[in-house]
Amino acid sequence: MRDRFGHHVSYLRVSVTDRCNERCRYCMPDELQEWMPRVDVLTFTEMLRLVRVAMRLGIDKVRVTGGEPLTRAGVVEFLSELAQIDGLRHLGLSTNGTLLSRGKLARQLRDAGVSSLNISLDTLDRGMYQKITGRDFLPRVLDGIEAAREAGFPQVKLNAVLMRGINEGELLRLVDFAAEKNALLRFIELMPVSTAEVLSEANFLPVNEARRHIEREYGALIPRPDFRTNGPATYYQIAGRNQRIGFIGALTNLHFCETCNKLRLTCDGKLRPCLGSHLEYDIMGPLRDGASDDELRQFFLEVVARKPERHDFRDNYQPHRRMIAIGG
Ligand code: SAM
Ligand code: SF4
Repeated sequence: MRDRFGHHVSYLRVSVTDRCNERCRYCMPDELQEWMPRVDVLTFTEMLRLVRVAMRLGIDKVRVTGGEPLTRAGVVEFLSELAQIDGLRHLGLSTNGTLLSRGKLARQLRDAGVSSLNISLDTLDRGMYQKITGRDFLPRVLDGIEAAREAGFPQVKLNAVLMRGINEGELLRLVDFAAEKNALLRFIELMPVSTAEVLSEANFLPVNEARRHIEREYGALIPRPDFRTNGPATYYQIAGRNQRIGFIGALTNLHFCETCNKLRLTCDGKLRPCLGSHLEYDIMGPLRDGASDDELRQFFLEVVARKPERHDFRDNYQPHRRMIAIGG
């Protein structure tokens, strides 16, 4: 699927739940949470049907996310069914890592056919982790990362959201930790997708500044434009080390949207052509009203036709929906 700006859409992010066992300050607002009623959330059968329809239109990579996807009952079976769909080249999962070491879950995910794991890790300091996520789960996440390695995931990705004055002093430790675990670390700029107070200008730390900070310790990082994953990260290599580090400059990289290949399906059945735009289209309605596969295909095509050229984050964007409800 190609949109009017030449974006080639091949990647679908599927959020399976808005629920989570953590309370990250940048993802959820401070007010008391009410989860969506279960009837308003797509069933796995409905999600599988939509993925199949999308795949006939050229989607060949799927990432399952949330909320915390591993909190939803039956998610392993869902992933296993996804993995068996003909033509799926890549099945990723984004998780906070807190449940991976429980009951051999990491191994079950690998056996189900998940190709790659992205695990969120903003700090290695237990107290700071608790402040950021609202939970004292750092030891569990570290066990989870180990469990993922033991389960044979090729190279786990670690995602750290940059927050000035919060985890700014943790960058080098995270780099060294990633090297030790043979993980691919990516630093992500804070995006205005929650109403939490952490999203103020004062907390924003641009990726270039993070890069300079790392360069003060390790010398100039070597750009690796030849190295790409499925997403928008720009990679650099540390001289003398076989370690690459990714930077996701959603706000400061003016070319960020040029290579966007994504479409999002929220857990309540909305198709979103862009994370940083208010555009969203309800596909659950037609789906539950008995739309045919052809009609659903047409729906996807119309959403792709409306994909914007770039996100609105730089234009005083005000989130209507929390990240947790969209699926990061
Ligand atoms: N619960 C899983 C996790 O934490 O990885 C998956 C869902 S989470 C919404 C996906 C990613 O979005 C995480 O890496 C998280 O750090 C990131 N994220 C959430 N809110 C963000 C924000 N305001 N700015 C940048 N990244 C954010
Ligand atoms: Fe939960 Fe992930 Fe959002 Fe944190 S970032 S609150 S772990 S969904």
